[in-house]
Amino acid sequence: MKAEIIAVGTELLLGQVVNTNATFISEQLAGLGLDVYYQTVVGDNRARIEELLVLADTRSDLVVLCGGLGPTEDDLTKEVVAAHVGKPLVQDPQGYAVLLEFFKKSNRAMTENNLQQALTIEGSITLQNPNGLAVGSLYQGDKSTYLLLPGPPSELKPMFRQCAIPELAKVFPADEKLYSTVLRFYGIGESQLVTDLAELIETQTNPTIAPYAKENEVTLRITVKTADEAEAERLLKVTEEKIMARVGEFFYGYGDDNSLAAVVVDLLRQADQTVTAAESLTAGLFQSTLGGIPGVSEVFPGGMVTYSPQSKVAVLGVKEETIAKHGVVSEACAKEMAQAVLELEQTDFAVSFTGVAGPDALEGQAAGTVWIGLAKKDGTVEANCYQFNRNRAYVQKSAVMKGLDLIRRAILSEK
Ligand code: ATP
Ligand code: MG
Repeated sequence: MKAEIIAVGTELLLGQVVNTNATFISEQLAGLGLDVYYQTVVGDNRARIEELLVLADTRSDLVVLCGGLGPTEDDLTKEVVAAHVGKPLVQDPQGYAVLLEFFKKSNRAMTENNLQQALTIEGSITLQNPNGLAVGSLYQGDKSTYLLLPGPPSELKPMFRQCAIPELAKVFPADEKLYSTVLRFYGIGESQLVTDLAELIETQTNPTIAPYAKENEVTLRITVKTADEAEAERLLKVTEEKIMARVGEFFYGYGDDNSLAAVVVDLLRQADQTVTAAESLTAGLFQSTLGGIPGVSEVFPGGMVTYSPQSKVAVLGVKEETIAKHGVVSEACAKEMAQAVLELEQTDFAVSFTGVAGPDALEGQAAGTVWIGLAKKDGTVEANCYQFNRNRAYVQKSAVMKGLDLIRRAILSEK
């Protein structure tokens, strides 16, 4: 079965909005065993949308349109598709009730144009909007099936997952579906990972292995196409084991939405342990990164940002003679910072960051030189020097990632 995606919106053509919906929909359709052959973007223009529908009828079994379901003049998608298939738009009772309820609750008068959002193509399956007001539609025409979704990703995604998938699976029962696993790695570059896995990547056809490099980490997506979910799981597992045998030491977690910080917080929670930090060149980025993870308060009581040498002395009690003798970009300073903040916050682990974010050198040390200390409750402390060469933001982000990985490894080694 062939599918295509038409994203409607002049803002997309102007480059003001990135067409992330197409990425999401493509991924979802692949999971349903539908092959996406075309993605197009068209402005809020009646004639041009119609032109694309005529073309789509000649080449696709499913046409997914997103955007233009809202209440304003430029929201044309429903009207144009309805006219194209020769059906009127009718009010969806549930969508209408939701509209009324929304305006009643928010204590605002409902303008006439809002009614447009509860309209659906006659004879279609209405898809309710769990996160907004405009309903979607799935209409099975003679030439193609049309799926209409709202533009805002926060509305489109839940509508697709909750309402569209079950209906699409009925209209297009798949003999084979795509299943995938995402493996995340830190501490190994993409080129090294691909080299280590070259033979696997080249010889495997089902599952396939696709690497994807992000700043500071690499992910691998293993994808398998089968008719049977249990078989898919088995095949994914076998490939995962082969990958782990080669590069397992750099693996830190599963999943698209995972992160090193989330894994660290999770490990700390499981181990009932806590972490703190004393940050110089990262200026709080480590703590802010932790702060982005829900539930972090259980494992992170607080920490320090000590940017200047004076602050390191006054707040943390780093010895003036340490700084005079070794400088702040030093093993000795990193160790004292980590030990001091561990003592202050009474945690199981403390990391410290002191170095040169750049672009200028400091204390005769090149930009990108970073000392990271790690102190533990048992009294041990160590510090290592790293070189992160690129711009300031990269140096700071890299240091934070390294700090997270040091804690992750420390927790795992204690297990
Ligand atoms: P609304 O009720 O908000 O008007 P709508 O269904 O009419 O929703 P549009 O007006 O086309 O949708 O788009 C609303 C917003 O949704 C856009 O301003 C944009 O931020 C986002 N959006 C639209 N299309 C896409 C897309 N293809 N990818 C990502 N975001 C999009
Ligand atoms: Mg709109």
